[in-house]
Amino acid sequence: MEFYNKSIHTKAQLIKSILGSIEQPFFNINGYLNKHDLIVLNYHSTPLKFIDNFEKQIDFYRAHFSIISPNDLKNFYANKLESKKPKLLITFDDGLSNNKYALQVLDKYNIKALLFVVPNFIEAAKQKEYYTTHIRSEINRLIDSQQEDFTALSWDELKVIVANGHLVGSHTMSHTLKANTTNTEILNREIITSKNMIESQLKINIENFCAPFNSLLSVGENEMKLIIKNYNYFHSTFPGSNCLNKNSYFIKRFNVECFWTIPNIIHTLGHIERLRWRKARLSFERLLKASHP
Ligand SMILES: [Zn+2]
Repeated sequence: MEFYNKSIHTKAQLIKSILGSIEQPFFNINGYLNKHDLIVLNYHSTPLKFIDNFEKQIDFYRAHFSIISPNDLKNFYANKLESKKPKLLITFDDGLSNNKYALQVLDKYNIKALLFVVPNFIEAAKQKEYYTTHIRSEINRLIDSQQEDFTALSWDELKVIVANGHLVGSHTMSHTLKANTTNTEILNREIITSKNMIESQLKINIENFCAPFNSLLSVGENEMKLIIKNYNYFHSTFPGSNCLNKNSYFIKRFNVECFWTIPNIIHTLGHIERLRWRKARLSFERLLKASHP
């Protein structure tokens, strides 16, 4: 993959790649990464044509981090997870069919990931239409171009993925949850029925939940109370450290994409990007405090 391909990378991504190139020599030695911390990455679509680039990203993580399994979250939050390097967890949102290629790379290195799936997307008769209506409306056809870039992993495919040691979480029932919903029928369906449905299909316990879009737009106090009651972990859309204000109901995640350059990833994990999300993190912490009984 070239450093900058204008049909794939945005101008912002080019700037991040340039800034990241400057930050690269200082990566891992400037204090924001320490062995007690956990970096959680959030991928979405992983088209086949970018899988070589994705593998380079995995090589980079393997060199700089101790990559943990989603099953290790329990020990991390119990302060029982020791590692020599900062810890890193890989998650995928939306459960797209093309995630199977990324998982093939992860399986090669025995890395376990967490996939957040949407039952209504899995069961939609017209999957492409469902995806572009409810999950992602802005599509760059040079990035996502194949059928599998718009369709969901099936229940049967997810069963094999789970058998391979990966974990699945709920990403709501329909990917349309809005913060401060008062309709209990909608709240129960999106947060509880989605969990029950995935559990009965895959025969596993679902402990991880992740809301769609910006967490402050999809989760308010009503939602958070129900999430706390029914899950052990909430994964947000805000990047940041997971050892500061450690709380399993506010897991900070860094959004990354499989076609990004390594310098772009470095910049995303760095100080500037974290600062940019400071206000959102504070707002979410306030929401969390208000939601606890
Ligand atoms: Zn999503």
